[in-house]
Amino acid sequence: MTTARSQALASLLLVVSLYSNLMQDPSRVYPSRVREVEAKRTTDFAAELNPAQLRAATHADGPLLIIAGAGTGKTRTLVYRVAHLLENGVRPERILLLTFTRRSAQEMLGRAERLVGSASRAVHGGTFHATAHRLLRRFGQSAGLPADFTIMDQADAEDLMQLSRAKLGFSEKKKRFPKKSTLHHVYSRHVNTEIPVPAILSEDYPQYREFEEDFSKIFADYTARKSERNLVDYDDLLLFWALLVESDGALAEKIAGLYDHILVDEYQDTNQLQSRILRGMCRTHRNITVVGDDAQSIYSFRGATIRNILDFPAQFQGASVVALEENYRSTQPILDVTNTVISRAEERYTKNLFTKREGGEKPWLVTAHDEAAQTRFVVDRILELHEEGVPLHEMSVLFRAGYMSADLEIELTARGIPYEKWGGIKFLEAAHVKDVLAFLRILENPRDEVSWYRLLMLMPGIGETTARGAIDAMALAAWDSDSFGRYEPPPRARAAHTSLVQLLAALRNSPADVEGAVTVEIARVRRLYDDILRERYDRVEPRLSDLDQLQTIAGGYPSRAAFLSALALEPPQATQDFGFGADSEDDVLVLSTAHSAKGCEWDAVFVIWAVDGWFPSARSLGSEDQIEEERRLMYVAMSRPRNHLFVVYPLNVYDTRRGADYSMDQLSRFLDRGVREGMQRVVVDRPESAPPEPAAGPLAVDLRALLKGRFGAT
Ligand code: ATP
Ligand code: MG
Repeated sequence: MTTARSQALASLLLVVSLYSNLMQDPSRVYPSRVREVEAKRTTDFAAELNPAQLRAATHADGPLLIIAGAGTGKTRTLVYRVAHLLENGVRPERILLLTFTRRSAQEMLGRAERLVGSASRAVHGGTFHATAHRLLRRFGQSAGLPADFTIMDQADAEDLMQLSRAKLGFSEKKKRFPKKSTLHHVYSRHVNTEIPVPAILSEDYPQYREFEEDFSKIFADYTARKSERNLVDYDDLLLFWALLVESDGALAEKIAGLYDHILVDEYQDTNQLQSRILRGMCRTHRNITVVGDDAQSIYSFRGATIRNILDFPAQFQGASVVALEENYRSTQPILDVTNTVISRAEERYTKNLFTKREGGEKPWLVTAHDEAAQTRFVVDRILELHEEGVPLHEMSVLFRAGYMSADLEIELTARGIPYEKWGGIKFLEAAHVKDVLAFLRILENPRDEVSWYRLLMLMPGIGETTARGAIDAMALAAWDSDSFGRYEPPPRARAAHTSLVQLLAALRNSPADVEGAVTVEIARVRRLYDDILRERYDRVEPRLSDLDQLQTIAGGYPSRAAFLSALALEPPQATQDFGFGADSEDDVLVLSTAHSAKGCEWDAVFVIWAVDGWFPSARSLGSEDQIEEERRLMYVAMSRPRNHLFVVYPLNVYDTRRGADYSMDQLSRFLDRGVREGMQRVVVDRPESAPPEPAAGPLAVDLRALLKGRFGAT
C-alpha cells in the first residue's frame, strides 16, 4: 500500500543511490539498454543487495534454492531476479512468478516495475490456482475438459460431497458417520498429499476407519458427479495441471514450453502436487528459482510440506543453494525475541538471524485485565503512534482466527479509525451473496447441481424432496435448458416453480455480451430474491447493501464467466481488493489473521489474544506436530514489525465455549520465560477499575434519604 508520495520518494532515492554508486564504481552498473517505448532505468544490483542476495538475483540458468529466515530479503531477491532476467533480454511473458496471494504477486511486479519499467507488467504472476485456471481454460479442451467448466469453492465442494453422501444412503441422521466437511477434508488431503485414504483415516480419524469402503464409494460418486456436472474443485485445478504436464506428448511439451523461467515465493507452503507441477513445467528447461523458510511453514493442515524445500536439491540435481542470515526488517531487540521463540522449535534448518539495526525499544508484553482493556490499549497506542507520525497503514493488528477481532472492530468503528481486514470470513462466503451467485451459475452451467439445489431450497414451498425430484428430472433430460420448465412440481411448489421458470427465461433472453450485462442480471435476480431475503432475516439492510456491492463489482467484469471465475478463484481478502470502500490511497489500519500476514511487514505490529487455547488454538493442542505449526505461526506473526512489537493477552476471558463464564487464562505457551526476558512488561487495568471509595465515618450524602418523601411516602 504505497502512496504516490512514497513512490516518488523511492524513485528519487533510487536515482540518488544509482548516481552515487556510479561515481564510486562505474563497472558495477549494468549498461543501460534502449527500448522501443521507454528508456530503461538501470538498477545497481550490487548496491541494493548483499553479496548472497546478489548471487541469487543474478544467478545464471539452472535450479536455485534460497532458504532463509524471516525478513532476510527473500522476496526482495526474487523481485530483483525478475528485474535481472528482464534486463538480460528474457521476454516478460516467458517468466512465471508464483506467489501465495494475488496481492503479493501484484506488489512484487509493482516493485519490479520501479526497477526496470513497464515490461514487468507482462510477466505472468499469480497463485498456483489462478495459473492452473488460466491454463485449463486455454488447453483443457484438448484434454477432455470442456472450456466452460464451473469452479467450486470449498463450501460448494462440501455441498456436492453431501449430495454424494445422501445418494449412497448415508443420511444426515446417521450420527456416527463423518460429516460432509470431514469427507471433503480427507478427500482433499488425499489429493494434495497423495497419502492413501486408509493412512489418512488411521492418522487423523481412527474413529472412522470402519467406514473406509464407504469413503471410497462416496469419493467415486463425487468424482463422477463433478465430471457429469462440469464442475471443477480447487484440488482439481492443481491435479489437472499436474496431470497435463506429466502426460506424454505434444500438449505437455506445449504447456511446459510456455515459460523459460519459473520463480516461486513461500515455497515452504507448497504441497506435493505443486512440486509435481513444477517438475513437469521444467521438463524443457531447468530454470526454476524457489525461496522459502522452513520456520515459517504454516499450511501443513492443507497438505503443505517442508519436504519440498528440503528435497529440492535432490529433485533438481545440481541446484545452487543460497542461505541468507542477515535480517533487514526488525530491530535487534525484536529479532532477539523472535529468534528465541523459534529456537524452541523441534526441527529447524534455517539459522538464527542477525541485524545491523541496533537500538530501538524492547518488544512489549501487555497484560490486559480483559478483552475491553486489550482493545482500549491497542486503540490508544495506535492513536499515539499515529500522533508520532506513523501512518495507519504502517500498523497492523494480528490474531489467530478471524472472529477474534470483533470487539476491536466495534471500537475502531466507534472512534472513526479506518481499517481493512484480511482473512477470516469473507464477503463472498455470506449466504445471501452465495444465493445470488447460484442463479448466475446455473445460467453459466445448467448442470451445476450444487447451485440448483441451493436456489431450489430457497424457494417457498420447495423442500428437500421436491428439490431432489427436480434435479433428478433435469439429470434424466441431460440438463437441457427446458427440462426444469417441464418438471411437474407438487401443488405446494407450483407458484415457486412458475416464478423461477419465468425468471430464468427472462435471464436467458437478456443479451449477455453487452457492457454491464452481469449487473443487469443480478438486478433481475434480486426482484425475486430480495423478498426471500426479507422473509428470512430480521436485519435485512446490511445484506441488501452487500448485494448492492456485488452488483457494483459485477460491472467491472466483461462477462458472467469472467466474473464467476474471478470470485471463486481469488476471493478478495478485503473489501478493498474490490476497489470499493476505502480508496487504495487512503491510510487504513490492517487487521489480519496471522496466516494472511505472511510475507508482509509493518512499522508497528500488535499480536492480540496471546492466550493459551487462543494462540495456540485449542483445536491444535492435540498433537505435537500441530503445536509446532502453531509455534511457527506465532513466529510469523511476531516477525512482521520493523520497529514496534506489542503482544497483548487478556487475563480474564469471557468464554462462551466454556459455558459463558469468566475464566482466568494463561499466557500463550510460546512466550516462555526466556522469551519474556527480552520484553518489557506492562499491565493495563479495565477502564472502570477504580476501586470504590470505602465509606469512611458518617455518610457524606445520604442519597436515599434525599429521595424519601418525594412521592408522599413518609
Ligand atoms: P519473509 O520471510 O517475512 O517473507 P523475506 O525474507 O521475504 O521475509 P523481504 O520481505 O524481502 O524478506 O525483506 C524484508 C525487508 O528487508 C524489506 O523491507 C526489504 O526491502 C528489506 N531488505 C532486504 N534486503 C535488503 C538489502 N540488501 N538492503 C536493504 N533492505 C533490504
Ligand atoms: Mg517474503
